Amino acid sequence: MGVVIKSASEIEAMKEAGRVSAKVLREVGKMVRPGVTTLELDEFAEALIRLEGGVPAFKGYGGFPGSICASVNEQIVHGIPSAKVVLREGDIISIDTGAVVDGWVGDNAWTFAVGKVSPEKARLLEVTEKCMWAGVEAARPGNRLGDIGHAVQTVAEAAGYGVVREYVGHGVGRVMHEEPNVPNYGFRHTGMRLQPGMVIAIEPMINMGTHKTRAMPDGWLVCTRDGKPSAHFEKTVAITEDGPVVLTTEEGHRRPV
Ligand code: MG
Repeated sequence: MGVVIKSASEIEAMKEAGRVSAKVLREVGKMVRPGVTTLELDEFAEALIRLEGGVPAFKGYGGFPGSICASVNEQIVHGIPSAKVVLREGDIISIDTGAVVDGWVGDNAWTFAVGKVSPEKARLLEVTEKCMWAGVEAARPGNRLGDIGHAVQTVAEAAGYGVVREYVGHGVGRVMHEEPNVPNYGFRHTGMRLQPGMVIAIEPMINMGTHKTRAMPDGWLVCTRDGKPSAHFEKTVAITEDGPVVLTTEEGHRRPV
């Protein structure tokens, strides 16, 4: 299919899906506490997405059963919400959620601390968020895809962390996964040129230990090979003449009445 370039008005339209996705992520994040199950978080997220006029982007995608991906501690991404997964004090949880509004997709993720976490986990969250913003900052015309990956990788590896290779960011539009792939590693001045009108999800997955992963038998969940914790942050970003514009923000435009 190739990269789908969005017009300025299409990017404006995508802001509503971005706003809903961001609001849901923030509100679900407020529910994160010891004792809550990831299924409860999922049910709340789905209800709020629908209340906001959207449809969960993940539910049914390739058969995925949830409206969020909920990935705890050594789980990197794609955890299936479950009544059996009860959050405990000191856990970290990546929540990834997306909404389709007016046919456009918003996709975002954040890793939350459950109660008080160890200093090591707190640092992992801080650095991984920094990785995400470094990637966003590099998402501008004149740069190439490798500049985004390089920016993310530099911050992660300076902290001694592993950058997940097998799972990457992606173009976003009328479908959740468009071209191009957006790796969190790479070399400066390499890869596809970034152009105004590209919309991409930048989503570093950063491991406290080895970058190596293990795909679990349910066909979805991905864990770290060494069992050490992993964090994941994601924004949907439009590349414009003026630089990166984050679409998954509650400052996105409200639907006209
Ligand atoms: Mg994504």
